[in-house]
Amino acid sequence: MKKILITGAAGFIGSNLTKRLLEEGNFVIGLDNFYTGQKENLKPFLNNKNYKFFEHNVIEPYNIEADEIYNLACPASPIHYQKDPIFTFKTSVFGIINALELSKKTGAKLLQASTSEVYGDAKIYPQNEKYFGNVNPNGIRACYDEGKRAAETLICDYNRLYGLNAKIARIFNTYGENMDIKDGRVVSNFIVQALRGEDITIYGEGNQSRSFCYISDLLEGLILLMKSDVTEPVNLGNPDEFTIKDFALYILDLTKSSSKCVYMPLPLDDPHKRKPDISLAKTKLGFEPKVKIEDGIKNTIEYFKTRINKQ
Ligand code: NAD
Ligand code: UDP
Repeated sequence: MKKILITGAAGFIGSNLTKRLLEEGNFVIGLDNFYTGQKENLKPFLNNKNYKFFEHNVIEPYNIEADEIYNLACPASPIHYQKDPIFTFKTSVFGIINALELSKKTGAKLLQASTSEVYGDAKIYPQNEKYFGNVNPNGIRACYDEGKRAAETLICDYNRLYGLNAKIARIFNTYGENMDIKDGRVVSNFIVQALRGEDITIYGEGNQSRSFCYISDLLEGLILLMKSDVTEPVNLGNPDEFTIKDFALYILDLTKSSSKCVYMPLPLDDPHKRKPDISLAKTKLGFEPKVKIEDGIKNTIEYFKTRINKQ
């Protein structure tokens, strides 16, 4: 039985990863400070004898023996990571230093949840791992983008200096069950607004694009990467691309909602076109997203219906 530590365990990806790793027969240790995570997401595991949870802020060091560490702790939605940008930056930088130090001391394998945001408002399309990015270091997204870029720098330096094998997953927009109703990202906002009959808030003209990956496909990629000996950064996502305007219409159609679309100001530095080139993940990991957007979104709509009814 492997002992696996997940930071950010009460969040969207962390709680889904916990479920999957427990089902595969591992012992899982969760760490979270509930900055954006939900206690509700942990409920299914609290009585599991193969699960342990510690409330902890990863900016502070921690000492836990494990075979593997998934470092996911960090607010991920723009509204949440911009609320306290210094906390966000510290979470990425001190968070990864603490995880790397633990890995160095105990020999635990380490995987970092990096992001497509390291490419910023990309000038190449689709985005591949060789691209160095186009990030505004002074803008409102920089606390997140530069924090994640600095974390990648630290990982590569620890790998070079101390012979660690830490891995970097550059995650593209992922959605699914256990997202928070108030998360603020586009998939949850549009579905919740459509289900409640509220206006669908399109930022800008809605011509910007994103490509959406269902959670089970992302988890597969993360686990494949952890098992591999790949230490170069790897894109994980689904190249299924929508403009935000078309995505709003798609959600209206699937929810059969009569909500209307309203147009609001586009936040500063919002990337224009995002689509992952996943050839590296395909070749090196055998990664291939399987879930069709329609199926993933339908599951997510059902999940939000239940969450809204519980409120
Ligand atoms: P989330 O906000 O649902 O989860 C993040 C979790 O980290 C929350 O439970 C939060 O309470 C916890 N956390 C934040 N700061 C912490 C701290 N200092 N100490 C301890 N816990 C802390 O977001 P998510 O979508 O599950 O994202 C998980 C990770 O994946 C993040 O690192 C994010 O940057 C990365 N990522 C996610 C996506 C995506 O589309 N979901 C895309 C790219 C990268
Ligand atoms: N967006 C939107 N309405 C919303 C939330 C987001 O139009 O209610 C847009 C946002 O401006 C961006 C895209 O949807 O262009 C994806 O935003 P999200 O916050 O999900 O994540 P990002 O990829 O920007 O980090």
